[in-house]
Amino acid sequence: MKVLFCSSEAAPYAKTGGLADVSSALPQELRKQGIDCEVVMPLYRSIRESGIPLTHVTDISFLSGQGISSCRVFSCAHTYFIENDTYFSRSGLYSYGGKDFPDNLERFSFYSRACVELLAVMGEVDIVHCNDWQSALIPTYLHAFGIEGVSTLFTIHNLAYQGMFDPSQWPLLLLPREYLRPDRMEYFGSINVMKAGIVFADMVNTVSPSYAQEIQTPEFGSGLDGLLKAVSYKLTGIANGIDSTVWDPATDTLIARPYSLEDPAGKAVCRQDLRKHFSLSPGDHPVFGMIGRLVEQKGIDLVIGIIPELLAAGAQLVILGNGQTVYEHELQAMSAAYPGRLGVHIGFDEGLAHIIEAGSDFFLMPSKFEPCGLNQMISMRYGTIPIVTPVGGLKDTVVALGEGDDPCGLRVNAPSRDALLAAIRRACAIFTREKELFETLQRNAMEKNVDWKISAQEYARLYTKIKHFKERRR
Ligand code: ADP
Repeated sequence: MKVLFCSSEAAPYAKTGGLADVSSALPQELRKQGIDCEVVMPLYRSIRESGIPLTHVTDISFLSGQGISSCRVFSCAHTYFIENDTYFSRSGLYSYGGKDFPDNLERFSFYSRACVELLAVMGEVDIVHCNDWQSALIPTYLHAFGIEGVSTLFTIHNLAYQGMFDPSQWPLLLLPREYLRPDRMEYFGSINVMKAGIVFADMVNTVSPSYAQEIQTPEFGSGLDGLLKAVSYKLTGIANGIDSTVWDPATDTLIARPYSLEDPAGKAVCRQDLRKHFSLSPGDHPVFGMIGRLVEQKGIDLVIGIIPELLAAGAQLVILGNGQTVYEHELQAMSAAYPGRLGVHIGFDEGLAHIIEAGSDFFLMPSKFEPCGLNQMISMRYGTIPIVTPVGGLKDTVVALGEGDDPCGLRVNAPSRDALLAAIRRACAIFTREKELFETLQRNAMEKNVDWKISAQEYARLYTKIKHFKERRR
């Protein structure tokens, strides 16, 4: 089985969120299971500047909306890089200074076309696995060109980002006008690239079973619930895992002292170290951590709303993230108002993420919706108890106290201020007065299997199913 895994970001080369983690760890695990899986992504400026050794593979030319487009293709280990300096040699992957690049459709349709051309160079590819809107045009091009020998899987990592563009940009795509219809790529007059992926891929999946159900409802469907319901026969959900070699407290070189279930002493050292990093005062207070994009999806507005009460309950809080300017400013102002108790770092910092995961006692994830979420699983592996809402992957991956055997987290019953506060107060009470229960939750969390093995097996089965289904149809 040969798979071309198309993604606009992959760790460690370029990362803005969970997609990069998945695009690194899943192909790695698939290769371990005997599947020949190669990743293809754009060659961003930061990748070139990182100095990784790049081998020239081939040159590609094709007809696009701009005339003849060309690019060079490089590789490093199991990853191909599409080079086009006009499109990809800039600061940021999709945006700069909080604003999306105006030529994103041109950039990622170019990338998608290049992936299609690369298929011919690679020879017999069974499956093209596309991820999110940036590679959602690939199945559309395969359809438009009548290329049938390859099957496609489209994975929705977050339905909230659909790649919507003004129809005046249509000529860029060099697709027949009949593709811009409401039953294909048009969405109330706009071009909707994610819709193209859903319509034209042989199968579609999301990154957790619950999210696959939720997006078929108006509440979570971001306007595409009708379409998703209509294609439910080809829609499934497979929960993500985490890269358990990158996220392993026993071998993590980025934290103050390694620790494990058998030898947990290092966790206290990591907590002290975290306090030092954020100049928090010493003491017996529980430390709550939060890492992520500062957008409403992640419930950052709810967290900001309860900070005074959380601190009044005797807890400390550290937040690492970047995103909407309004939240960045509010958090900075609050950290100045509560020195020694609230630590805030605005930015993207992998090393600090490890320090927070290792040093915190609880991890806040009060998301309003969550396709899967990785931080709750990373937290569990680090013995940091996740506090999560009952949505999407947070429902599927965390057994909360009172919900089943071997609980390893706490539930925020709804994405509301009051529910979040209630869960935080419960967490503080467990930490200070019910030490045995706290240690049981920690132990259960660390024992939980959160690696990619089982989920990768599910992907392998799905690939086989798509391939056979397509062969039968031919
Ligand atoms: P998303 O919706 O952003 O994809 P996930 O929970 O699926 O959320 O994955 C987020 C990933 O990005 C995790 O590995 C998390 O640790 C990382 N991350 C998010 N924001 C930051 C940040 N500011 N600094 C470092 N890592 C971050």
